[in-house]
Amino acid sequence: MPILHDFRSDTVTRPSAEMRAAMAQAPVGDDVYGDDPTVAALEAEVARRTGKDEGAFFPTGTQSNLAALMVHCARGDEYIAGQQAHCYRFEAGGAAVLGSIQPQPIENLPDGTMALEKIEKAIKLDDMHFARTRLLALENTIGGRVLPQAFVADALGLARRAGLATHLDGARIFNAAVASGIAPADLAEGFDTVSVCLSKGLGAPVGTVLAGSDASIGKAKRIRKMLGGGMRQSGIVAAGALHALAHNVERLAEDHWLAATLAEGLARHEGLLVEAPQTNIVFMDCPGIDGTALAAFLAERGVIVSGRYGQLRWVTHLDVGEDAVEAALAGVAAFLERVG
Ligand SMILES: *Cc1c(COP(=O)(O)O)cnc(C)c1O
Repeated sequence: MPILHDFRSDTVTRPSAEMRAAMAQAPVGDDVYGDDPTVAALEAEVARRTGKDEGAFFPTGTQSNLAALMVHCARGDEYIAGQQAHCYRFEAGGAAVLGSIQPQPIENLPDGTMALEKIEKAIKLDDMHFARTRLLALENTIGGRVLPQAFVADALGLARRAGLATHLDGARIFNAAVASGIAPADLAEGFDTVSVCLSKGLGAPVGTVLAGSDASIGKAKRIRKMLGGGMRQSGIVAAGALHALAHNVERLAEDHWLAATLAEGLARHEGLLVEAPQTNIVFMDCPGIDGTALAAFLAERGVIVSGRYGQLRWVTHLDVGEDAVEAALAGVAAFLERVG
């Protein structure tokens, strides 16, 4: 069965005809020489929208986060991040392997925050036994949840008092902005660096921009080169990202509405435990039901979801519509009827 409705991730979106046309027409140059006007325009646009001085265009969010960690931490230093944070959990241990930076994960609470006392206790004393704690990294949205601004303010205050730098993994910061009505520049305010993915819900094929101060982005560009992320005529892909910023931000509200519709439909079934989504990601536990069999049954109908740790995850995006949600709900109902 071919994939008809792909709910695995918002990374699966494909560039539209208009986006491809913008990419084909983009003026380009060698960006390692600083000659690509389209990359420069994208970096400036993300910096402007996040209220930072400058941006650096990266091939992926993983590389952007790693470069940020390496900007703020040297060999033998330590960063604090959530146990569920992408930059701790989902980046193949890159900070430790490539940056020689020790992670100090802190348990995430159900709303995506962390207990401030736990962060505070994890900050090491200046003592030869310990790694030097240098950085606090937050993520917004985290698991599709928008961080409460009061938590962000408190965490930034704590970091400042302790002399820590701060990084925001804002891969989905525009989802957070659209859902909360708070501008991205306000969500990123007070952070030294922020990483913004263009290839998720915004629908560009490739790329992430790291934004921050002139000094931190200057350092990040050197590290980007070291990591093999210095790209040449990357204006071709940056043009897709610029098109995405111009056309696909406000429409994220449709993805959020569709996720809410899907979650409501799923929650009608007793036995499916569905978290009400804040943005475009729906997590579903199905105790007593074989989640793997459910996913396989849906796949036979062309509906695919991702599953990890016994939980199914549905993500809405540009390339799924109401028909996809109807097909998904019909598939789930048919499966539950069959297993009784
Ligand atoms: C997707 C994602 C990234 C980076 O992803 P890449 O696939 O490397 O571009 C980083 N942080 C978060 C929160 C993400 O969702």
